[in-house]
Amino acid sequence: MRLDAAVQAVDFVSDLHLSAAMPRTTEAFMAYLAHTPADALVLLGDVFEAWVGDDLLSQPFEAEVAAALHAASRRMPVALMVGNRDFLLGAAFHAAAGTQPLADPSVLEAFGQRVLLTHGDALCVADAPYQQFRAQVRTPAWQQAFLARPLAERQALARGMRDASQAHQQGQVAYADADPDLSAQWLADAGAAVLIHGHTHRPGSGPFASGQRHVLSDWDLDHGQRAEVLRWTAAGLQRVRP
Ligand code: MN
Repeated sequence: MRLDAAVQAVDFVSDLHLSAAMPRTTEAFMAYLAHTPADALVLLGDVFEAWVGDDLLSQPFEAEVAAALHAASRRMPVALMVGNRDFLLGAAFHAAAGTQPLADPSVLEAFGQRVLLTHGDALCVADAPYQQFRAQVRTPAWQQAFLARPLAERQALARGMRDASQAHQQGQVAYADADPDLSAQWLADAGAAVLIHGHTHRPGSGPFASGQRHVLSDWDLDHGQRAEVLRWTAAGLQRVRP
C-alpha cells in the first residue's frame, strides 16, 4: 500500500468489535470517523464482532456503520484488513463502505519508512487448534458452503463458534501472542523493521523480534474505558485518544 506523498497523518485502528450490543463504542467510533485530523485511515481487523456475510448490510446496525465509513472515505482513503471475527467482509461491504481491501500482511510506505501491517492472528502459531480452524475457514470451499446457508443460521453458527473460542481462551494460561521467530521472518521478507498489529488486546510498543512492535488496543467503551488510535506522522508513531 502506498499513500499520496501529501499525507501528513495515518491512523491505525483495530479490534473495535462493533455490534448492536456495543452502542457507546459504536458511537465513539462514528464520532472519531467524523472528526479525526488524519488524512488516511487503516483498519487492521475485527472492526465487527462478527461478520457472517455481506447480506448483513440489510440490517440497520451494519448499514449504519458502513454509511459512516463511506462518509469518511470521501475525505480520506480508508483501507480495511479483515480480522479473525470479520474475515468474511467482502466486495459488497467494501463498495458500501468506500473501503479499500488490504491483504494480511501488507507493507505500508510513508514518511520514508516501511511498516508491516497484520491483524495478528496468523502470527499466533502457538495456538495450534486455532491455526487449524483458521486454515479451514479461509478456504473458498468452506466460505462458499457457509455463505450458502440462511443468514439466521449463519448468525447462530457464529455465536456458537464465539462461545467455543472464549471457552478455549479462558482455559489457557495466557492468551496466545505473536511468535517472535515468525514475526522476524515476516519483517525480513517485507524489508521492514516496524510491525503493527492488533488482535491480542495487549496494547504496547517496544522492541520485538528483529525490530519494533506496536500492538493496537481494542475498543470497549460499554464495559470499560478502552479506545485508542495509533497515529503515524513524520514525527513517528503516537498513541492518542480518539
Ligand atoms: Mn482478532
